Amino acid sequence: MSGRPSVAERLGADAFDTDATPHLTLSDAKLCATCALRPCIPVCPAEVYHWEGERLRISYESCLETGACRVACQTLGNRALLWTYPRSGHGVQYRFG
Ligand code: SF4
Repeated sequence: MSGRPSVAERLGADAFDTDATPHLTLSDAKLCATCALRPCIPVCPAEVYHWEGERLRISYESCLETGACRVACQTLGNRALLWTYPRSGHGVQYRFG
């Protein structure tokens, strides 16, 4: 092994215990349609957010729980995102801290 693992290698080692109940939801999807910047999309390192046709798709299964999208939506977006951690025992399990 040579040196320190890359960020991609470290993230690739993470495991996920997906909850059937999404922990990232919207108060009103119409707010996303009029959101000028949609900052949740570029700020998420896990690419959880995608704009598809007329709606925001949220792939909560791969969420890294950084909370960056929450801050972005509250400060630069239309404040539609309802952010919580996954229920106990679910979500990301980091392998490299
Ligand atoms: S930043 Fe908030 S309001 Fe804007 S698209 Fe994302 S979730 Fe919707």
